[in-house]
Amino acid sequence: MELSGWGRALSAEVRAWRPERAPGLAEAFRAEREDGVIVYAGGRSYGDAPLNGGGDVIMTGRLDRILSADWETGEVVCESGVTIGDLMRVALSHKFIVPVSPGTGFATVGGGLANDVHGKNQHRHGSFGDHVQWVDLMLPSGEIKRITPVGDTADLFNATVGGIGLTGIMLAMSIKLRRVKSNAVLMREKKARNLDEFLAMQEEAREKHAYVVGWIDATARGRSLGRGIMESADDSQGETDAPMGGRKRMPVEMPGYAMNPVSIGLFNALYYHRLPFGGRERQAPVTQFLYPLDAIEDWNRLYGKRGFYQFQCVLPEAESAVGLRKLMEAISDAGTGSFLAVLKSMGKWGRGHLSFPMPGYTLALDFPHKPGVIELLERLERITLDHGGRIYLAKDGAMKAESFAQMYPKLDEFRAVLDRIDPNRVMDSDMSRRLKIRG
Ligand SMILES: Cc1cc2nc3c(=O)[nH]c(=O)nc-3n(C[C@H](O)[C@H](O)[C@H](O)COP(=O)(O)OP(=O)(O)OC[C@H]3O[C@@H](n4cnc5c(N)ncnc54)[C@H](O)[C@@H]3O)c2cc1C
Repeated sequence: MELSGWGRALSAEVRAWRPERAPGLAEAFRAEREDGVIVYAGGRSYGDAPLNGGGDVIMTGRLDRILSADWETGEVVCESGVTIGDLMRVALSHKFIVPVSPGTGFATVGGGLANDVHGKNQHRHGSFGDHVQWVDLMLPSGEIKRITPVGDTADLFNATVGGIGLTGIMLAMSIKLRRVKSNAVLMREKKARNLDEFLAMQEEAREKHAYVVGWIDATARGRSLGRGIMESADDSQGETDAPMGGRKRMPVEMPGYAMNPVSIGLFNALYYHRLPFGGRERQAPVTQFLYPLDAIEDWNRLYGKRGFYQFQCVLPEAESAVGLRKLMEAISDAGTGSFLAVLKSMGKWGRGHLSFPMPGYTLALDFPHKPGVIELLERLERITLDHGGRIYLAKDGAMKAESFAQMYPKLDEFRAVLDRIDPNRVMDSDMSRRLKIRG
């Protein structure tokens, strides 16, 4: 079958296995193959991390059982194909929350760990790997090993966190949930007139609030460069009975030309001006706050058949103000535009050898797959490198191998683990080959 990343700009013909239960997965894994295998889970990575053109892919979507839960301590054991959104709904009904959640509830816990995903609370609660207590990993040899963040298996654990599926297949994991008082957050929205104001507001907000995120109008120029809306939120004391957020489908595939600088600029301007200058405050279901884009189930069809690329980088704190300005200028000069760009501050390093997070600021944008987009991505990659930053593998589909090696200083440690556990290169993916991750 043909599979694509969420951005739909990259796709691959693969031989797919879709086991119903763990024994079926073991069978699929033992199958004779020549061209390696990788897991495709929720398919919410934008580029080629879960693709393996010409080779095998094991789809874990049906391995979606919660195996046990202790509602005193918040320790949950679940199969790797459980979606973070499903786990979140179950957890909330017991007054717990998945401590770290990406911007979509359709990502699975396996995908969450393999990219060491972060949420709007990275500055306070770190990334996904910080809350996983153990993983049952099927190694490339077929052996199943329980790996933990401390002890003999710590090195393998740190290679698996953020290791984009290359250390083997995660079967199940134990996650420590965070206790909350209710299913809601108290959120505030405020306008920032430009990038400097935005950064000052975020710096102040992250000291005080659990969740902080900014939506930037990436089409604004000159004195308005970097204008946008900042959201901050905290756990609410009281429940909300507002709907947790319904789902609509994109009724049709949008034609590629619908996504042009005029429509994108208009959308960004409307979004910015919808909020009064004084801002506003309201209580919202936490799932609605965390997953605003999930309201339209297959919104990636907005970009038409050719799809889109997402670019996300993080810059270290000291370089953020200058580097972000250069990135925003390059984007507005290119004139391709982007629907709302997301700017978030990060406060902690990820624990994995290839984890993305570092203290600083992260910027994420979507670009339609049109002529000129690869050149723009190359410029952004250069600026990121020049400012000591890195590009996020969960979003990437275009970075060069040399840049990747410079951005991820623990690559050698990661390679050493792979050489030890997978000398025959059983695990493989389009991303691994493109970025020459195996060397
Ligand atoms: C709307 C949207 C918002 C997003 N927001 C954020 C965000 O705020 N923060 C963030 O960090 N990310 C974000 N993401 C990215 C997303 O969270 C990650 O790409 C995540 O890894 C997707 O999980 P998945 O289950 O879809 O995995 P896939 O995309 O299918 O796979 C991702 C990687 O995980 C590996 N993998 C998955 N399951 C297993 C397993 N069982 N064993 C071994 N390897 C496995 C795959 O091989 C692949 O390398 C967002 C994505 C979307 C579409």
